[in-house]
Amino acid sequence: MSLNPFDLSGRVALVTGANVGLGQAIALGLAEAGSDIIAVSRRPATETGTAVEKLGRHFLSIEADLTSTAPIQTIVDQSINVMGKIDILINNAGIIRRAAALDFTEQDWDDVMNVNIKSAFFLAQAVGRHMVPRGTGKIINIASMLSFQGGIRVPSYTASKSGIAGITRLLANEWASKGINVNAIAPGYMATDNTEALRNDPARNRDILARIPAGRWGDSADLAGAAVFLSSDAARYVHGVVLPVDGGWQAR
Ligand code: NAP
Repeated sequence: MSLNPFDLSGRVALVTGANVGLGQAIALGLAEAGSDIIAVSRRPATETGTAVEKLGRHFLSIEADLTSTAPIQTIVDQSINVMGKIDILINNAGIIRRAAALDFTEQDWDDVMNVNIKSAFFLAQAVGRHMVPRGTGKIINIASMLSFQGGIRVPSYTASKSGIAGITRLLANEWASKGINVNAIAPGYMATDNTEALRNDPARNRDILARIPAGRWGDSADLAGAAVFLSSDAARYVHGVVLPVDGGWQAR
């Protein structure tokens, strides 16, 4: 028995989008806490794999395109075949498309909704079918400030991130009694590829920084603590929350 409730030794975490950005930082945080890692992304997660193995954990990279649900069952089957089980799912892979609502295309709607919410739900379903019979598991969806607010020029992103907050609560309602904790993390404004356009726009960059009480953009590693907590026994009675990690943005 571990006396440290945050210890993830012996656990296996499947993290989508773990090759770069927030997903990579979450994967490394979980590996530091003891977990083995399965990384799912379109490009190989080579850098993440090197860092995870350096920490002494097992690592598996699965290349798959989550624009469609087609690869989901293969991802879950391969994960279980190679690693034996999935204890933790981090639904992190996500994209964003920016255009005014008057000009927004159906393609930009579908592409974002397919990755950010449709595949996230069906991956949770496929992993849930493995977790529920075992009576244990942690699912963490990566939400956004746009799970709470409207945003500007990102209609499908706002729809997907508002939706993922709802799906988090729905799955928590259905699966809390089955030993599964479903929660979400809502990152604030984090310095990654996803927000490069905002940081390169001087007016938007100034306005965003002025509203963050912490006075800086978030660093990817700022998410690791929340991810480890929600993945661990320390969060065993936490269900259906959308936890902001935002430098105080929501407090303004
Ligand atoms: P990022 O640097 O652009 O990374 C996106 C990740 O998603 C990559 O690993 C990418 O893998 C993966 N991905 C995208 N489309 C995919 C697809 N079709 N199939 C498989 N994997 C796919 O973004 P990030 O900033 O780290 O964002 C990660 C998550 O946090 C997203 O859900 C995002 O909405 C959310 N978020 C970010 C911020 C922020 O400020 N950065 C704030 C709130 C929420 P490939 O490289 O292989 O395409």
